[in-house]
Amino acid sequence: MNVLTLEAPAKINLHLAVGAKRPDGYHEIESVMQEIDLCDLVSVTRAPRAAGQHIAVHCSDPAVPCDRRNIVWKCAEAFFRAYGIAEYDIFIDIEKHIPSSAGLAGGSSDGAATLKALNLLFGIRADRDRLMQIGASVGADIPFCLAGGTCLCRGIGERVTPLAVPKPSWAVLVAFPGGGISTSEAYRLLDTSPAASFSSPDMLLTELRSGRLPSSLFNDFERVVLPRHPGAAALRDRMSSLGASSVRMSGSGPSVFGLFPALSDARRARETLLADGIPAWAAKPL
Ligand code: ATP
Repeated sequence: MNVLTLEAPAKINLHLAVGAKRPDGYHEIESVMQEIDLCDLVSVTRAPRAAGQHIAVHCSDPAVPCDRRNIVWKCAEAFFRAYGIAEYDIFIDIEKHIPSSAGLAGGSSDGAATLKALNLLFGIRADRDRLMQIGASVGADIPFCLAGGTCLCRGIGERVTPLAVPKPSWAVLVAFPGGGISTSEAYRLLDTSPAASFSSPDMLLTELRSGRLPSSLFNDFERVVLPRHPGAAALRDRMSSLGASSVRMSGSGPSVFGLFPALSDARRARETLLADGIPAWAAKPL
């Protein structure tokens, strides 16, 4: 086997509370992340013979860098370093469907898929915890992307606890209003805004355990990002008017998601957003 194609699913944050800035500059967070079936496709090819170290990346989205800045490249280097693999020749092809810089962890998920693929292609048999450790050295969302499902994420997001909740029966409509604020800028805005009390996900966890459509969604970034992003704020209102039971921004934005009782409801609302010229996707939680 020398080619492997894996799906790389997006995530949404059902709950995202940001705490204090640590001495190392990162922020403590508490987040409930949910994997959804809006996926990139990542194909990793291993050349049978390698002399030296060679990585090449191609991405269907021309806005995503295909050099060392790509998260898949960083994950591949971290993987080879971790296992002392000195000779490799790989090609990583990313078919992008998840909008990038949107708060949906598209890049992190591509990185997680790359780690899984390399683990198989190089016959390493690392367990998931070890891959999560390697992933965490590249990005805080990568361990969740390796775990998938519904998880409570703490630390800077890298301490992942899978939640034993029934598989959600509800559906998600995700939409991207364009533009945006970088994640580092969003954290900076939070640091300079009046502190809010650290919100707990307890209500949400009770709702998730009961299997009903959750309504206790929370995202700390909304209070600093939405006032500066009228497009995202308007999209929140639009989704509510289209029947979403709860609407929130995902991650540091600017994508917005709404929850619907069934996929058919989310698909109907999607058609309306598409007719308005807003990129949108109806998805199921995984
Ligand atoms: P998160 O929710 O984890 O904060 P995000 O959805 O906001 O992530 P990503 O799409 O994961 O953002 O990545 C955004 C940045 O990473 C952009 O600057 C982009 O150029 C860069 N990047 C590197 N590799 C990738 C990749 N494989 N896919 C998308 N963006 C990538």
